[in-house]
Amino acid sequence: MTMARRKKPQKKIEVDRFRCAYCGACVAVCKFNANELVETFLVIDEEECTLCMSCIKACPMRALAVKEVA
Ligand code: SF4
Ligand code: SF4
Repeated sequence: MTMARRKKPQKKIEVDRFRCAYCGACVAVCKFNANELVETFLVIDEEECTLCMSCIKACPMRALAVKEVA
C-alpha cells in the first residue's frame, strides 16, 4: 500500500504569555532579529525565525517552546 506523502509539519516558537516576564533576554540572543517586545507582548516573526532555539535556552521563565503547526 502506498501512503500519500504528507506535507512536512511546520513548526514555530510559541510564547506562554502567562509565564513570560517581558525581560527581553530572548530578544537579546536572537541573531536573526526575529523577535521583539512590543509593549507587553513578545512578537515572533515566523518568516525570519530559523528555529535556532537560542531564545528558548535563554528564557529564564521557560516561557518559550517549539510548537508543531498543523
Ligand atoms: S528560535 Fe532563534 S531565530 Fe527564532 S526567535 Fe528564537 S532566537 Fe530568534
Ligand atoms: S526571555 Fe522569556 S520571559 Fe523574557 S521576554 Fe523572552 S519569553 Fe519572555
